Amino acid sequence: MKKTTNAPAPMRIYCDLFGHNYEMTKKVTLHVKEYTCKCCKRQLTTNGNGKLTELTPKFQEINSILEEIYTRRMIRLKNKTLSSSIY
Ligand SMILES: [Zn+2]
Repeated sequence: MKKTTNAPAPMRIYCDLFGHNYEMTKKVTLHVKEYTCKCCKRQLTTNGNGKLTELTPKFQEINSILEEIYTRRMIRLKNKTLSSSIY
């Protein structure tokens, strides 16, 4: 496993100059996603307004709760579809 340490300074300068290179790292719900910059490892998330914001520990907590609710709802929906499509 690769150790994630702070990105070397040149990468951060690159981001400052050309902007971050975000990649979706986690789908929390249909509308809330987490992104990580491939260069400097900065993390963002979608907030309640649908805008991107820094992924703080507070948002990580909110997202994990959201994810749990979302996953549970999806499982329930799936079970419903399965049982109604048997006939
Ligand atoms: Zn970056």
